[in-house]
Formats: sequence, structure tokens, C-alpha cells
Amino acid sequence: MAEHESLEFGKADFVLLDSVSLEEFMANLKLRFEKGRIYTYIGEVVVSVNPYRAMNIYGRDTIEQYKGRELYERPPHLFAIADAAYKAMKRRNKDTCIVISGESGAGKTEASKYIMQYIAAITNPGQRAEVERVKNMLLKSNCVLEAFGNAKTNRNDNSSRFGKYMDINFDFKGDPIGGHINNYLLEKSRVIFQQEGERSFHSFYQVLIVLLIHSVPSFSPPQSSINDGADFKAVADAMKVIGFTPDEIQTVYKVLATILHLNSKVVAVIGVLLATKEENVGKALLYRTVATGRDVIDKQHTTQEASYGRDALAKAMYERMFCWIVGRINDVIEVKNYDAKVHGKNTVIGVLDIYGFEIFQNNSFEQFCINYCNEKLQQLFIQLVLRQEQEEYQREGIPWKHIDYFNNQIIVDLVELQHKGIFSVLDEACMTVGKVTDEVFLQGLNSKLAKHAHYTSRKVHKSLEFDRDFRIRGVQYCMNKDTLFQDFKRLLYNSSNPVLKMMWPEGKLSITEVTKRPLTAATLFKNSMIALVENLACKEPYYVRCIKPNDVKSPLLFEYERCRHQVEYLGLLENVRVRRAGFANRQEYPRFLQRYKMISEFTWPNHDLPSDKEAVKRLVQGCGFEHDVAYGKTKVFVRTPRTLFCLEEQRDEMV
Ligand code: ADP
Ligand code: MG
Repeated sequence: MAEHESLEFGKADFVLLDSVSLEEFMANLKLRFEKGRIYTYIGEVVVSVNPYRAMNIYGRDTIEQYKGRELYERPPHLFAIADAAYKAMKRRNKDTCIVISGESGAGKTEASKYIMQYIAAITNPGQRAEVERVKNMLLKSNCVLEAFGNAKTNRNDNSSRFGKYMDINFDFKGDPIGGHINNYLLEKSRVIFQQEGERSFHSFYQVLIVLLIHSVPSFSPPQSSINDGADFKAVADAMKVIGFTPDEIQTVYKVLATILHLNSKVVAVIGVLLATKEENVGKALLYRTVATGRDVIDKQHTTQEASYGRDALAKAMYERMFCWIVGRINDVIEVKNYDAKVHGKNTVIGVLDIYGFEIFQNNSFEQFCINYCNEKLQQLFIQLVLRQEQEEYQREGIPWKHIDYFNNQIIVDLVELQHKGIFSVLDEACMTVGKVTDEVFLQGLNSKLAKHAHYTSRKVHKSLEFDRDFRIRGVQYCMNKDTLFQDFKRLLYNSSNPVLKMMWPEGKLSITEVTKRPLTAATLFKNSMIALVENLACKEPYYVRCIKPNDVKSPLLFEYERCRHQVEYLGLLENVRVRRAGFANRQEYPRFLQRYKMISEFTWPNHDLPSDKEAVKRLVQGCGFEHDVAYGKTKVFVRTPRTLFCLEEQRDEMV
């Protein structure tokens, strides 16, 4: 039993549903949300519904209630999962990871922050200064990354526009001694374009508002959920604490200002900001240097090419700066202590907060990557949940029955397979120079994938708008080439600002030296996803599955259809089935006795049998549940929820 909570709040674990159907699942989810119970388990997975209101469940007192306890002893909570991951890391010496998924606005980032806060709160009882320093850095890094990587969207006022995986390293005492952040695919197109009602990254507004407050005395910032002025200060402080130098922070502001000016085409100011000659800026914006045979010539851009080049520059500068900021944070939080690295036990807990499926009217390369990432994580989820079950049965010496499940490897292959997958076709198309690229790409797709069950081309589906559109699993994508002219890389590398120069090392190469093509964005992303999945697969995983109850940020509204859709694509029902196909519940013998010993004369108040295992057998026999139970080495396994109910009922009658 996940908890001894009154049934008026619904079932605390979906595994305990009377029958596994979508209707029952949804009814329980809805009931719990309406009763203010935002967390529910599926075994060891936490399902969370965004409450859209402040919940009084994250304070010090709550932390104390979960610290060191077993999952089912307390009402479902993120803290219980964080504690389980922490215990596995500390007691069993396992690297663990917590994977948080769900669509935009479902509460992933908030969840990741609560998990980090919990871990910070329960560690370092000795108050070692170095550990406190590390904890502070890890928490502060969130503030900086959110300023540069988050934006207001129509779905979420503080939407993360990048994927984030953070490792926290622990020493033999179980205290944090460092960390490392991997960032994935920043949505850089936001720098030059935002949907109506949305904003660019917070950082731009923070800088602008501070400029306005300083230079326009009568200026008062607009009222909204976002306080850019205060955030600016918080971010600047956090950067200082993390160890960014004043020059580095200044350079960051200059890059932001450059991007703002690029959109208004003020070449002279840009020259000053980038610490390069004005004429070089003008030249890089209007010409590109090309090598033809032995000659190097300056070719003038068409108007279209020039504005394309400018946009690409703005996006690339921002993206590069973001990656540089992550790199600088990593320099500081990396495990420093040589002894800890070489001799000491060094285990990690990884926290993954990554974008969920996104479906818009028009889906670009970025959505394509995001959705591919989700297919891959979903695949991993099913694999790992099954593996985890299997491993536990083996550990406990209980026979394992194979379980069938939907395998979405076919979708993953469609995207990533060598030579045949969409990414490969995309790479080939990018090799061709000039305007034909988009058509080349689509021709390649159509010729290689026409027969694939999940792929639809325009030939088949006439409603697709452009020739380069295609569909996967019914979602429509349209992709464009996005390259940055070499001239810009050289321009920035030749800046006399050393911080800026550092961000553009490849600008060192002259035009005649640039021979090897850089890896395409698609290949880089594919490789980073493969590495991420490999990394997660070798850790013991814990899952948080976030659901967004409505599109209007209301704490009261449970939009049934909206939620049902998410339950479906998160594969939650499948998860319940997998969990129930084996044993719905397992508990260590002493724990089981502690909970149910009052219902048997053999065990109450104490038993005189040779072991707790024997005592549990006796208790179960007495209740007539023999057929529904298996005895492992350390745990008793209960197959059906019905049996647990009976035990719980009998217990209720006694206490
Ligand atoms: P995601 O990262 O999944 O896009 P966020 O974590 O940014 O979503 O959550 C979006 C918003 O929802 C938050 O800014 C906050 O207002 C609200 N929210 C999310 N989780 C909680 C929670 N546990 N308690 C209260 N409000 C929450
Ligand atoms: Mg987020």
C-alpha cells in the first residue's frame, strides 16, 4: 500500500485501481487533483498534476517527514522519490537519476528545483563549509540558467527553452561535492522571432529594464508576473557568487546589446560593443568571403542573404554565449577535490528536466528534435521500468514472466538510423550548396522513407502546405537550413575582447583553411541524445511524470480531454499494467510485519518464529492469501491490489 490515506482522496497508487482502464485512471487522477492531492504513484513513479497555486507541502516540516522513510509510508510526494534516489545512492552505492517529463507548463522545472532543495536540505549535517559552498552554487546556477534559457510563452510564463541534465556528485558521507550540467538544444530562433503574446529570453528584458530605470527617471516597469528589474539584480548577484568576473558579466551584457542592435542595424554601436572595427562589422553583414580555386573574393549578399545572415548571427551569438555560461558554471561546480575524485567514493544523482512533446501548427527543426528526444526517452522508460522489475525479481529469487509492450523503436529508427534515417537525409541535403537544399532534403526523404508506416509526404497528403513539409505520427514538420557564414566567426574571433574571442575559437581558421565541414545541428543533437540515453541507462532511474491540468493556469480546472491525452502519450496506463503484471506491491519482511502484525494471533504483539519471513508466511496463511503472494529473500511480494485492500481493511478494524 502506498500510504494509509483515506480513500476519500482516491487511490494513492494507480496500481491499486480495481481495474486498469483509462476511465478509472482518469477518475482517480481527477478526484485527487480536486482534493488537492497533486501527487500519485505508479509503483515508484510519481505522477504530478500542476496545482497552479502555492502548496504548503515543501517546507522544513514536510522535509523532515520524508527524510529516510520508505516510499509507501507517507503520502505520495516528490520528496519520497528524491529520498529513494538518495538512499539508493548512499546505501547501495548506486548512481541514480531522476527523469522528469511532461509538456510545457506541466511543472517539470519546479519539480526539479524542489528535488534539489530537498537534497540540499537533508545533506551535510556536519555543516562543512566546502559542501555548503557547493550546495549554494548548485542552487544559484538555476537562477542564472533561467535568466538566459527561459522565456515567457503562451503556455508558461517561465518556460525553459532548453533541455537540462544536471549531475550532482556525492562523497562517501553522502554530501554533495560538485556537479555538472549538460544543456540541450536552446531554442535560439526565439532571439529573432516570437509568437504573438510571447517574449524573447528573460535576459534581454532584464538588461533593458535596468537601462530604462537608470536613464529615464519617470520610467516605471509594467505590472506582470515577471519582475525583470528584481530578476536582473538576482541574476547579477548569482553570477558574482558563482564566480563570473566583472569583465565576463560586462561581455554578456554587450552580447545582449549587440543582438538588440542587430535587429535595428546600428553598425557603429555594434563595432564598439564587439570591440572590432565598424567597417569589419559592416563588411561581415554585407559580404561573404568565398574561395574559388586559388582566389579569395568578397561576394556581396543579396538583401535576402544579408538579412538571413544577420538573423543567423543574432541566434548564433546568443546560443554560443549560453553554452559558454553553462561551461563557466561547470568550471566552478566541477568536483575539485583530487582525493574525492581518485580515492573516495563518488556517486551521482542526475536530474533531467527536458522539454516534452510539442505540437504546434507549424513545427520547425527544433520541435522535430524535441519530439525525437521524447520518443527516445519514452523508449528508455519502458525498457528501464521492465528491467528494474526484472532485476528485483532476480535479486529476490522470484521467477520472472515476460511482458509485452509497445515498442516505439520503429519511430526512433525512422529518425536516427544511419543512411536511412531523417537525420542522415538532412545531413546529405545540407552538403548540397545553394537554394536547392530544402527541396533536396524532401526529395531524399520521399525517396527513402515513402514506405515507412509512420511517415507521410506531401505527395500522399495534399493538405501539407509547403513542398518541404512532411509528417511523422501525424505531426507536421517544416525544416529550413540554418547556417552561420564563416565571416562572422572570424569577425568575433578577431575581437579585442578576450571573453568574446574565447566563445569563437573556430574563427581562427582563415577561409582557405576551412575545409572540414562542421557537424550539422541535427547530427550534434542526435549524438547528444544518444549519449544522454546511454548515460541514463546505466543509472538507477526514478521518474516524475508531470501533467498540465488546463491551458489557463487555473488551480480549479481539470480539463478531462487535455489530461487524458497526456496520460496516453506518457504511456501511464501501460506503466500501471507493467507494474501489475508482476506484483503490485512488495515490502521488506520487518516492514510488512510492523504494518499488519495486529491482524494475526501468531504475530501480535510479537512472534516467536525463527525469522520475520516465517512470521509473514504464517500471517499470510492465516488470512488465506497464500495463492497471491511470493516470498523473496528479503521481501514479500503481493500480486493483486485486492489482497492489499483486505489486509488494510483488517488492519483498520484492529486499530
Ligand atoms: P515546465 O518546466 O514543465 O514547463 P514549470 O515547472 O515552469 O513548467 O511550471 C510552470 C508554472 O506552473 C510555474 O511557474 C508555477 O507557477 C506553476 N507550478 C508548477 N509546479 C508547481 C507546484 N508544485 N506548486 C505550485 N505551482 C507550480
Ligand atoms: Mg521548464
